[in-house]
Amino acid sequence: MRDAGLSEPAGPPPAVVRMPVDEAALAEAWSRSGGRCECGTISHGHDLRCNRLLVWPNRGRSQGRGAWSLRLHANGGQPCCEAVCSVCAARDEARGG
Ligand SMILES: [Zn+2]
Ligand SMILES: [Zn+2]
Repeated sequence: MRDAGLSEPAGPPPAVVRMPVDEAALAEAWSRSGGRCECGTISHGHDLRCNRLLVWPNRGRSQGRGAWSLRLHANGGQPCCEAVCSVCAARDEARGG
């Protein structure tokens, strides 16, 4: 048992929480996409689905072979994300949302 006479610090200082790339969301999108770009924005100039090959180690990147990242969008109030290749991600940015 502890000595109740001593005041103790409230606990460890709060860790600085960065928002890293969400590995769980990436993994989920990856398995669903089958390793191919899920983008369905036809104005990008690709087919109904982009299907560009993605490379797992280049997840969360904007450059490199098969680089890809997550595109977040609200789907009926529920956040949802798609695995999209760097080309589509860049087009999204060029469009300005
Ligand atoms: Zn794409
Ligand atoms: Zn696209």
